[in-house]
Amino acid sequence: KAEQLSLTSRYKSQFLANMSHELRTPLNSLLILSKLLTENPEGNLSDKQREFAKTIHAAGSDLLALINDILDLSKIESGTVSLEVTEIGFRDLAEHMERTFRQIAEERELNFLVEIDPNLPPAIRSDGKRLQQVLRNLLSNGFKFTEEGGVTLKVGSAEGSPLRAGSDWIAFSVADTGIGIPEDKQRIIFEAFQQADGTTSRKYGGTGLGLSISREIARLLGGEIEVVSTPGAGSTFTLY
Ligand code: ADP
Repeated sequence: KAEQLSLTSRYKSQFLANMSHELRTPLNSLLILSKLLTENPEGNLSDKQREFAKTIHAAGSDLLALINDILDLSKIESGTVSLEVTEIGFRDLAEHMERTFRQIAEERELNFLVEIDPNLPPAIRSDGKRLQQVLRNLLSNGFKFTEEGGVTLKVGSAEGSPLRAGSDWIAFSVADTGIGIPEDKQRIIFEAFQQADGTTSRKYGGTGLGLSISREIARLLGGEIEVVSTPGAGSTFTLY
């Protein structure tokens, strides 16, 4: 029975992966052509018509992001993702995140700190692209759900964590001073399409796939993600 179940779930994931791929092709022409219309090269469209073309382009982009997420999740779940493990310098990783989010921090008038524990070795062996993907996800959530204060990325050894003391674990923690997550939602937010409250998606956007993808990637990398949060005070997501 268990074997059958896992086979069925693999088929389902494969179907989703194929389907998402098929959806992207027509969507791409829709995006390119609507973009072209917004530019109005022949100058024959009214302002209103250009507005419509912009809306088509924006909605299409959202849809593409959603399809990409579904594709990614189903690929990971069906076990068709292979890791590319290389040496990743902590400095490089930190600089990359700094570059990616500095602008957003400034626009939102939020603090953004990146701290690397000086006692860490210079590098870790992992899949750099996937590691970055998880951190980008956690950081963009941090910025998304924070109005005041800021977001801090800390990279250090996991010694402070009682469960992992004396081990070789590395902790990448993303702490924000945002809205926080109620205790009873802290598990379900890792499920696909789940958000802490039903009104979240209207106010903050998003699809509820980021954390599911991040959790699966963490597993694939041999690690895990933990969350500690106080509603109204902020959240800390740690990737071990
Ligand atoms: P999305 O952000 O697209 O909704 P995620 O899977 O990344 O999807 O997150 C799921 C939900 O978890 C979010 O909708 C939000 O309710 C909650 N959440 C995630 N990160 C944070 C955070 N840093 N602060 C508050 N809530 C968060």
